[in-house]
Amino acid sequence: MRVRNACIALPGATEPFRGEVIVEDGIIAAVGTDLPASGEDVDANGLLVLPGAIDPHVHFFDPGYPARETFPTGSAAAAAGGVTTVIDMPDTSIPMATDGASILEKRDALSHASVVDFGLFGGISGLLCDDALEARIAEMAPLVCGIKTYATSGADFFPRVNNYQYSQILPLAKNHDVTILVHAEDWDFISHADADARSLGATGRAFYRSRPEAAETLSVLSVTELAAMAGAEMHIVHLGTARAAAIVAALANVTGETCPQYLEFDCEDLERIGAPLKITPTLKSPYQKALLWQMLADGRIDFVASDHAPGTVQEKSGDSIWDAYSGIPGGPIVFLYALSEGYLAGRLSLARLVEVTSSAAARRYRLDDRKGAIAAGHDADLVFVDPHATTRFDAAASPSLGKVSPWDGHEFRGRVVRTMLRGKTVYDAEHGVVGEAGTGRFVAPRRQDGPETGWKGVPRW
Ligand SMILES: [Zn+2]
Repeated sequence: MRVRNACIALPGATEPFRGEVIVEDGIIAAVGTDLPASGEDVDANGLLVLPGAIDPHVHFFDPGYPARETFPTGSAAAAAGGVTTVIDMPDTSIPMATDGASILEKRDALSHASVVDFGLFGGISGLLCDDALEARIAEMAPLVCGIKTYATSGADFFPRVNNYQYSQILPLAKNHDVTILVHAEDWDFISHADADARSLGATGRAFYRSRPEAAETLSVLSVTELAAMAGAEMHIVHLGTARAAAIVAALANVTGETCPQYLEFDCEDLERIGAPLKITPTLKSPYQKALLWQMLADGRIDFVASDHAPGTVQEKSGDSIWDAYSGIPGGPIVFLYALSEGYLAGRLSLARLVEVTSSAAARRYRLDDRKGAIAAGHDADLVFVDPHATTRFDAAASPSLGKVSPWDGHEFRGRVVRTMLRGKTVYDAEHGVVGEAGTGRFVAPRRQDGPETGWKGVPRW
């Protein structure tokens, strides 16, 4: 197949490269100009062609909670939004992915379920820091993109890891060469703030007061100190404060992500809208948004992720913010948001757009031998966008089961015209999602050979 007349976003390039992409057996064979036809010809005239987006933080609740989301629905919505690879969290499926056997069971259960390629995270909760801890980490390490932990958890069945337990987990993670992901909020601080905030009522403002911004900074300081002592690789998920992001940015062994919801909404929106915008960690002060954008643009924040976690209509309604489900469906818009509010709004360069939506996550999770770049030898995962069109997001029309969405009706600059997974069109704007569940394959991280370096290219301790 030849994609011709394309404006191609090449790695690191500040301007699109006008040329052709040759695809053979789902792999990019060549990128250049005046390349001869090779089977089917796809005309990309006027379109920008980027590496398929990676959404490295989704909760698709599959198998286990089909009223909230499933892999067929969540991955179809991802494809429609320009995403070609998702990485699913371990604690929102049955079984939870916490050892080698449960990861293989989950992988096999999803083998005919995904429209896009998928990786898995393993998980360690405070209940699993026992004599079998090292065996679990060793079994999971070759299969998963990383191991997720919570410094504060809202789920009784997957409780938090305390600082002492982190000091046990991190050296094992280093030995078995796997990255530890952290939901970083300081439990000691949050638990007292939560008790005080409940007396303020059942509004968005009360919920905001229950998860103070300092809790993120305090937790990031603790867990990154323990990672440094162990020489372990760490990733902080869903950063919402510039102070925490600045700590992460200063450390060679630690990366961080933020999400469209922290870049777009704040605690005043939460007060106004209530339960549909309830997420944990909660939305922050209005001034954080511009700082997070700046840090995403200059590389201090590594990439964006959706933290896609829909609740049902019933779970996201009701009068009390305390009883509402915590999570929103962001998977359908995570790429479009970065395209629209980042690149097309002038906040991100073309090179940063590619980094934050695809390449940086591919590198962090060791998928960069196949994913994250339009380059010979990589999977032909491509998203074609029309930068001059617009998109009005319609949650009712999205394949996602997440119908209560703060993005419903939101106008985006740009439009996803086609999404291609390993050379096969899985979405086009005319026909909708045309890829079937099962088109997407499981992806495991590449193993390191040769001397190991940290993610930021600095030799490890
Ligand atoms: Zn999450």
